[in-house]
Amino acid sequence: MVTLDLKDLAKYPFLKESQTYIGAISSSLEHYLESTGGRVAIREAMLMLEHALSFSGKETPSIPEIPPEKEAVMTIIATYPVSRIMVSCAQDRMLIERLVRYQAWVVFAFLQDEEPEIKRFIRRSIGLPETGMDISVIDYIPVASRMAEERWRLVNRVVEKGKVRIRPEEYDEIVRERLRYIMSRNLPLKVPSRICDQVKPAIERIKAEWQKKVLEEFGQVEESAFPPCMQAILGALTGHGHLTHMARFAVTAFLHNIGMDNTRIIELYGSVPNFDLRKTLYQVEHISGRGGTSNEYISPLCATMRTHGICVHPDSICSRVTHPLSYYKLKKRDLNKQKYQKQVKDPDESMKKRVESEGDQSDTNTPDCIPSSTDNKYKDEKST
Ligand code: SF4
Repeated sequence: MVTLDLKDLAKYPFLKESQTYIGAISSSLEHYLESTGGRVAIREAMLMLEHALSFSGKETPSIPEIPPEKEAVMTIIATYPVSRIMVSCAQDRMLIERLVRYQAWVVFAFLQDEEPEIKRFIRRSIGLPETGMDISVIDYIPVASRMAEERWRLVNRVVEKGKVRIRPEEYDEIVRERLRYIMSRNLPLKVPSRICDQVKPAIERIKAEWQKKVLEEFGQVEESAFPPCMQAILGALTGHGHLTHMARFAVTAFLHNIGMDNTRIIELYGSVPNFDLRKTLYQVEHISGRGGTSNEYISPLCATMRTHGICVHPDSICSRVTHPLSYYKLKKRDLNKQKYQKQVKDPDESMKKRVESEGDQSDTNTPDCIPSSTDNKYKDEKST
């Protein structure tokens, strides 16, 4: 039987032992959040969310320092549930995903230098075999579906008697992704409104930060950077073609994720045969996490798009991405680079074009840009 000290509980705050320990420090969550310790935990949770928002998920984050003082360690343990409460109150699926990804990666960072018996204990606590190199296909699939590298695809693994072979050096990665799966599975939590009110100012600040990130990541909506799959779905949409439920979901979530206002998305659906405004409004608001739902959906991965037969005409950029949103970001960056290089090469010509385009404000139907006067309004909506 392994013995966990206070430092271990701080390193692995998702453990039942950590939660039991921290649950005993106050008579109620409400009282705790009002206390000095609770206020510090809210501040620390905000910091954690800031890290989570700027974390790329590509490199192992640096290990957070665990101070020797008992009070400080308790705050670290409490930061975990407080951060989960905060994202649940924020009702933003992308924020939730960023948080759990970061928290799972921090655990992964700690595991790199961990005692074997603690590693075994953690594996057991999250339902993985303590030792050995095989995990069941059922456990493997939700974990591997979040990993982009080809080596994780089931077709590239050795599968025997319903078990997937894992190499020893890969096991911590499996723990990380399994944790991410488990942590996000229970979110958002059902938090009473009086608790949400207590963390509201902190949530507002996080949302403002998140809004800034969306703006930095995607900028203004630019149709010429859309991946071929989304171009095809939009083509079918505006050309009165029939769309499957999955195609509608994928394009709606994609447009919402890149910052398009719901009103503009609904307008795009206006040309669909038998257009029903109320039904469309309900569906768009549901997917974007508004209209009383707490889930904001993220457009599907390329692998899912392929499974549903809506990954069409993939081009050379597609081979570098696993998600239509990554395609959009990459292509947009390339287009901006090209534009910039052109301006540097021929400043007179670019100035002439600018004057011409500014002189023709009515030309909003250029093929390069979905006219969206309300794009900025979306950003305001995200922070509400
Ligand atoms: S590979 Fe991905 S981004 Fe490219 S067309 Fe298919 S689903 Fe779209």
